[in-house]
Amino acid sequence: MSLLIRNAGTVVTCAGDHRPRVGAAANDLGIVRYGAVVMDAARIVWVGAEKDLPASFSDRPELDAEGRLVTPGLVDCHTHALFAGSRAGEFALRVSGASYEEIMAAGGGINASARALREASDDGILTQTVRRLHRMLRCGTTTCEIKSGYGLSAEQEVRSLRLNAELRRHVPMTIVSTFMGAHALPEEWRRDREGFVRLVAEEMIPLVAEERLAAFCDVFCEHGAFTVEESRRILQAARAHGLDLKIHADELAGSGGTRLGAELGVCSADHLLRASRDDLEALRDAGSIGVMLPGTCLGLGKTAFAPGRMMTEIGLPVAVASDLNPGNCYCENLPLMVTLACLYGGLTVEQALVGVTINAAHALRLGHDVGSLEVGKRGDLVIWEFDDYRDIAYHFGVPLTSTVIVDGEVIAP
Ligand SMILES: [Zn+2]
Repeated sequence: MSLLIRNAGTVVTCAGDHRPRVGAAANDLGIVRYGAVVMDAARIVWVGAEKDLPASFSDRPELDAEGRLVTPGLVDCHTHALFAGSRAGEFALRVSGASYEEIMAAGGGINASARALREASDDGILTQTVRRLHRMLRCGTTTCEIKSGYGLSAEQEVRSLRLNAELRRHVPMTIVSTFMGAHALPEEWRRDREGFVRLVAEEMIPLVAEERLAAFCDVFCEHGAFTVEESRRILQAARAHGLDLKIHADELAGSGGTRLGAELGVCSADHLLRASRDDLEALRDAGSIGVMLPGTCLGLGKTAFAPGRMMTEIGLPVAVASDLNPGNCYCENLPLMVTLACLYGGLTVEQALVGVTINAAHALRLGHDVGSLEVGKRGDLVIWEFDDYRDIAYHFGVPLTSTVIVDGEVIAP
């Protein structure tokens, strides 16, 4: 589809070199004033100031941005968006002061979502998930990652990932699948941790790799989930089968996940609340990206957030994501995460916007394809209701997109 967007008050291009942004580059949004963007066959073919627009492009169908802000489509590089059912009851218990043990005894937690997934039909899961993805689109997200991890058996994990692939036929979004069989130890494996880790490493991963169901493998490396040793074994098996790596690291306690992420050179290590400066420097030296998930802290009613300012100061590339999930962060609104990353993570507005665009794209190995408005990239962009990019952080909690464009086509969520 061809399209010419004219009369943009401000274009945030996030243009730059082919690496994740750090230092001064993480504060540079590549702003063009009074800009235009041209797309042909779903790709960007020209971006710049409208006064420089070559006459040869002016025969495309036009869209008047009416002086508003244009940015790249946002990239949500960490979600658990495919799930069944609701854990609102668990939320109510939690805020009324119930302990973790009481919630577990009432049938809550990841195992509750695993039961709901098992009992739901494919159509039921797809319908619920498509609604979530449309809410994400309305908030400006045009690329997202979705993890499995509510299956907790080979059969259900493979089913989750096949449904992820199916979603692409229902929603105009780039979707990246991550296998996360090691999300929680299932009830039926309580007495045989070793057996479950072996199941993930030796049965699930080969199945997932053989069917090419996922680009990444992720592990919940945490006290109460999987140990550093178990996580290493699973991630090494994944790498041996050609999967790229991610890790849920140091969210609740300093459990060594960030250190392991650095040792393995993961694409990204996510959460990082309890990571030390040394750990984060090791992560930087390994070429990884640190992903902040401030919505989860909000959803848990916590006052501690990942040390975003320290991460940027030491030169670790930072991305920001929603962690959309049914347990502790049921929120599709990625711009809200920008606000939280600024207020509680110490990022500048510019760093946070880079964190949901080009750095998030790199956290999915899609830095060549999405995350910035540059010639050759996908025609995914957002026209906002306003012209000042700082409004994305400043005005929070409601969708503020005016028009969302995917592959050069205006979409209606
Ligand atoms: Zn997560």
